[in-house]
Amino acid sequence: MIWYPYEQMKTMKTPYKIVDAQGVNLYTEDQKLIDSVSSWWSVIHGYKHPELNAAIEEQLKKFAHVMLGGLTHEPAQKLSDKLQSWLPGDLDYCFFSDSGSVAVEVALKMALQYYMNRGETQRTMALALTRAYHGDTFKTMEIGDDEDYHFVLNAYGKSQYVAHIPTEIPALEEAFEKYHHRLNCFIVEPLLQGAGGMQMYDVSFLKRARELCDKYGVLLIFDEVATGFGRTGNRFVADLVLPDILVLGKALTGGYIGHAVTVASHKVYEGFYDDDPTHALMHGPTFMGNALACSVALKSIELFENQDYMSKIRRIEAITRREMEGFTDPRIKEIRIMGGCVCVEVYDAASIRGYQQFAYERGVFSRPFLNYLYAMVPYVIQEHELVQVLETMKEWFRTN
Ligand SMILES: *Cc1c(COP(=O)(O)O)cnc(C)c1O
Repeated sequence: MIWYPYEQMKTMKTPYKIVDAQGVNLYTEDQKLIDSVSSWWSVIHGYKHPELNAAIEEQLKKFAHVMLGGLTHEPAQKLSDKLQSWLPGDLDYCFFSDSGSVAVEVALKMALQYYMNRGETQRTMALALTRAYHGDTFKTMEIGDDEDYHFVLNAYGKSQYVAHIPTEIPALEEAFEKYHHRLNCFIVEPLLQGAGGMQMYDVSFLKRARELCDKYGVLLIFDEVATGFGRTGNRFVADLVLPDILVLGKALTGGYIGHAVTVASHKVYEGFYDDDPTHALMHGPTFMGNALACSVALKSIELFENQDYMSKIRRIEAITRREMEGFTDPRIKEIRIMGGCVCVEVYDAASIRGYQQFAYERGVFSRPFLNYLYAMVPYVIQEHELVQVLETMKEWFRTN
């Protein structure tokens, strides 16, 4: 049987069984649902997209997968060329992997080894944010700050290899003052912390972080697994502030196949480029650069560019602001909106219990967590569909 994610299997309610999916809609045997979660924020073009399907089918006629160990192929080459030219600054070196968590692991490994290769062996520590989420593997759990993983803290005790700070400039300055000799990186989900509860913060924090990283020679890592490809209303937050290492996942393949990429700047790449074989980056996921994933990712980027997705996202933000304007309820702590993300935070998790079924009956799939009721819709959503998603949220508070 299936062991489901993030669920107490003993008390879990039966999941909705999906039998078809098309555009922004998921279909169960008896209901049509607008997917307001975009399958964990990845399905930006909607389901069963004819051009994405065709890209995979074309590649499938040649081969589905060959490893990148000692072999190479056009889909991976074309995708890395595309990312190199499309991403800002000198983020030019693409290391592929099969999931966001692994791509973050690769980024953290790069940052550590970059300094080990230079003989700066005291730089064993990372700086990260409170409420951060960077994935579910062990190092990413340690770097993140997710209550779900506090059993790890209980088991091992507090890690001496990571410090967490809030998104406040004085705390940032203080941490650099205190730890800069030992830091190899500062890693953030820029502007929008997703799994930590759709927390939003100002770009001035990132600008100051860039200055401090430059001053103290610390690598800045942007985990844009969730924020990349327009979610914050910026194509990438890296367009505003340039990191040394950028991690992309989720929407990279338009939500078709699990794939991710860790993109390094010249400086980082140079730190490995050497006659010494021990200075090589020792990593290689079996399915890195999967040909189907690369083909669909390329097509996804093409659609994003050619069909002006940034204007679609601006439209989603404008409609969301219009619809949520002036909406209040004593149970609501805050409503946050940024680009293609809206989050209603309540004081007490109990006040959104039952929302998922309520939304289901009204033709919307939603997956609230803790105190957060949110929507991160596919960018191809029509105005009336988005209004339906937001109206369902408002109706819940009006009628419950
Ligand atoms: C989802 C997510 C990850 C992990 O990606 P997986 O593909 O689930 O391993 C890492 N970082 C952020 C910011 C994410 O939102």
